[in-house]
Amino acid sequence: MHFNSILVSVTEICTVGCRHCGFTGSTRDRQPTADEIGRWVAQACDSGIPEIIFTGGEPFQRFRMLRSGVGAAAGHPGRPRISVFTSSFWGRSAATVDKILGQLPGLTRLFLSTDVYHQERVPTQHVVNVIEGAIAREIPEISLCITIAEDHEEERIRGLYRRFEDRVRVHVDRVIPTPFIKTAHQVGLPPDPEHFSASCYLETPLINPNGDLSACHIGKAGAYVTLSDLAYFMGNLHEKSFQEILADADRNYEYQFLRVYGPQGVARMVASSPAVRGLFKGATFTNGCDLCYKMLRSLDGRARLREIAADPFQRELIDAIRLVRFGERPPEPRPAPGAPPQLSGAPQPVAPQPVRSGT
Ligand code: SF4
Repeated sequence: MHFNSILVSVTEICTVGCRHCGFTGSTRDRQPTADEIGRWVAQACDSGIPEIIFTGGEPFQRFRMLRSGVGAAAGHPGRPRISVFTSSFWGRSAATVDKILGQLPGLTRLFLSTDVYHQERVPTQHVVNVIEGAIAREIPEISLCITIAEDHEEERIRGLYRRFEDRVRVHVDRVIPTPFIKTAHQVGLPPDPEHFSASCYLETPLINPNGDLSACHIGKAGAYVTLSDLAYFMGNLHEKSFQEILADADRNYEYQFLRVYGPQGVARMVASSPAVRGLFKGATFTNGCDLCYKMLRSLDGRARLREIAADPFQRELIDAIRLVRFGERPPEPRPAPGAPPQLSGAPQPVAPQPVRSGT
């Protein structure tokens, strides 16, 4: 299977405490050993994933683990790109920034979270120090990640970094509402397919600190709810190798449904199920992930996805779209216990078919 990158959460711990954080209110005490991080990163690199993105919690609050992961990626013959998310809380001075970045050779990108929420807790000057330090250390890419609840916040934050305009990239996303964040005006979309894209962040799975491999960033919610019965959960690296988990995911049609249809497919699931339509009557969603997560957390939503994934016609469609979109062949059926070995070669690809509405 093709992935653009993988998120590796080195710790759930973060003491910055932004009020929009999805972790707010959770215990957040899980973290692996430095050796485990190194091993998991090496396995992800062995699978050919071209970019390793370290995240948390706040990865710089467990620097030994971050250094182990960056070292494993930098020493891998696949030479992946190596990125880190941070709040820049550690950017107290130019000297501190230089000393810290000097211990992470091979780093190719910094994602700096900066928005009205982070800047309530972290001085903007710390972010500026990290940007200047990264430029001095010739880290090739610096991205500012701005999370907004209301449109005017974007301009306010962009204005803080105007002088770095030609050196930084800016990525803006909408906050996912939590019980801890209330805004005066929340932009919301009804769950109609035309509002949502057929692709999302599934080309970037997530390794959680407890070894859970999750389909996408939403797996971070595993800090406070059980996700192992949802389509996002792929397996645990303490129980299976990275490659074994990917082989299972290849045959998991609930997961493959999300890969080929994205949040647009989730919106079509809503439209096609009277039970879910009733559940979401009048509801709006800030983005595709907000819709997807609420859908899959609901019993009716899960039942609808299971129903679709068990339908042979839907499976053929999913196989066909995987072939056209990702160049992936349909998974070979697992041999029944005691069955003789197959003599023929790889199965023939399934011809693409028109997409039937109602999923
Ligand atoms: S739409 Fe769903 S599957 Fe896709 S990235 Fe968002 S939460 Fe994950």
